[in-house]
Amino acid sequence: MSERRASRVWAGRVVATAAAIVATACGGADGEGGRGPAASAATSEPRFDGAAAFELVVQQVAFGPRVPGSAGHRAMAEWLEEYLSARADTLIVQRFSHVALDGRTLPLVNFLARFRPSASPPVLLLAHWDTRPVSDQALEPEDRGKPVPGANDGASGTAVLLQLADMLHRVPPPRGVDVLLVDGEDYGDFTPGDDVFLGSRYFASHLPQDYAAEYGVLLDMVGDRDLDIYVEGNSNQLAPEVVDRVWGVAQRLGFSDVFHRRVRHTINDDHIPLNEAGIPTINVIDFDFPYWHTPEDTPDKVSASSLGVVGAVVTRLVYRGR
Ligand SMILES: [Zn+2]
Repeated sequence: MSERRASRVWAGRVVATAAAIVATACGGADGEGGRGPAASAATSEPRFDGAAAFELVVQQVAFGPRVPGSAGHRAMAEWLEEYLSARADTLIVQRFSHVALDGRTLPLVNFLARFRPSASPPVLLLAHWDTRPVSDQALEPEDRGKPVPGANDGASGTAVLLQLADMLHRVPPPRGVDVLLVDGEDYGDFTPGDDVFLGSRYFASHLPQDYAAEYGVLLDMVGDRDLDIYVEGNSNQLAPEVVDRVWGVAQRLGFSDVFHRRVRHTINDDHIPLNEAGIPTINVIDFDFPYWHTPEDTPDKVSASSLGVVGAVVTRLVYRGR
């Protein structure tokens, strides 16, 4: 993401598209009473496991950089499809490609894992799963060509949502919940019209039929051991009621020392295309991460307890709403 307000004019350079519903793991209609624990899900709120989320960070980093077109990206896409199809009620896989400014054709894939899709308009939770090809913020010039390991920038938000998906499978929520993992957030250099937010832009312009999420929450860089999340400026302007809801939950859970109520950074990120598509969406991000876009963005900079705090907030959000 970038800390800049740019006009959101995107050149459409998608050259091929394919979307497929690949799994209906739990079978049958999402209805009342058909799924055992679902019937009583409205009152039971499971506990988010931050340590398990941390293991999912380690697992993602072990694939190597998840740069579109790389072996690590391919391997992780396969793993994500397997993981999510085993847990979601419905998994929609959006495969597409994009010709980047560097001339490469990037193979990209978004995953939309749906839980109780017919129960209510879903809350949409999203994160980017790709990682950045270059460490442009590295102190040493010789490090700047290296790919970012992406433990925090990429894997942290994805890990929280994968762990949440596991929980949503075990304890169905009282409402519709969509987990969206978008690709191609971090490929380009964030000049207008550049190769960034590719997956969220694609999703926003290829929404499932009659798609109407109630609101959206983007998780980006939520694993910093020293976690401080301030209200993000574009979120505050575009979706203030969602900011109120999420910060209200954090406060009631006792996390006011992590979720600070004032605006600090204004950031262009995957939430912008969703707001443009009419889904009020905020960005939950700790942008004060010293290892951002460097080769030092590794799992030791991330903690289970930080992931646990953010995980607890989204858990409360989907099981209780407030
Ligand atoms: Zn990044």
